[in-house]
Amino acid sequence: MPEGDSVYRATARLHQALAGEVLLASDLRVPALATVDVAGYEVREVIPRGKHLLMRLQPPARANPDFAQPALTLHSHLLMEGRWDLYAPGERWKRPAHTARVVLQTARITAVGFDIAQVKLLPTEQEADVVGHLGPDLLGVDWDAQVALENLRAEPQLGIGQALLDQRIMAGVGNVYRSEILFLSRVHPLTAVREVQNLPALIDLAHRLLVVNKDRPRRVTTGQPGTRDPLWVYGRAAKPCLRCGTRIELLRIASTPTGIERDCYLCPSCQPAG
Ligand SMILES: [Zn+2]
Repeated sequence: MPEGDSVYRATARLHQALAGEVLLASDLRVPALATVDVAGYEVREVIPRGKHLLMRLQPPARANPDFAQPALTLHSHLLMEGRWDLYAPGERWKRPAHTARVVLQTARITAVGFDIAQVKLLPTEQEADVVGHLGPDLLGVDWDAQVALENLRAEPQLGIGQALLDQRIMAGVGNVYRSEILFLSRVHPLTAVREVQNLPALIDLAHRLLVVNKDRPRRVTTGQPGTRDPLWVYGRAAKPCLRCGTRIELLRIASTPTGIERDCYLCPSCQPAG
């Protein structure tokens, strides 16, 4: 699952390539949008909301305002495998064409969304329908730690490991950051939210980790870019803890509300169960 920071970077690249450009052609290869064409629309901006990507499109100007079309938002979610690539005109795609879900062409560039599981087109004023459920966005300009704290406290029974991935509480933490945040906070993933000693510090840490990594190509939580161990625990099952040498363990934790199990890594010594 992509984390908020990788969606942030994908969004920044798309914004840089497309903002202010008029779409010359569009090909939306999802059944619900097969007949929809947004050629003529101008890309106003591309912004991230948690792990969602919102591309805001301005309709072509009409001489008669009675026939004005609404501003539209192309919403996509990268889920597990999705990615956006940018190509010069005529450049060969690096992925199979049959996995392309969205193709947007401007005079200078072709943006192709591959393996994107969710693609929707809706009036910009109805964006809340697709992202309104999200809690405060850790990388949003409107990040609000207090609301995130209130949302967390409203789920006292929930395991903190589950809560961190619940995008309705706060948006942007994925698998990798979950493990790293809990290790750095010395909290066992199955600890109930109400038992966690310092929730504001944990939220602040999540925010700082995402912000410091948002423009980096490689995620680092150990504070040591360029080392062999950029992460404390994630992906290191059975290896020695970088802090104490204990074997790192792997837990599978069901996510809310989907129930899908995801990997969570921990050091049983640094993060003792309560
Ligand atoms: Zn340890």
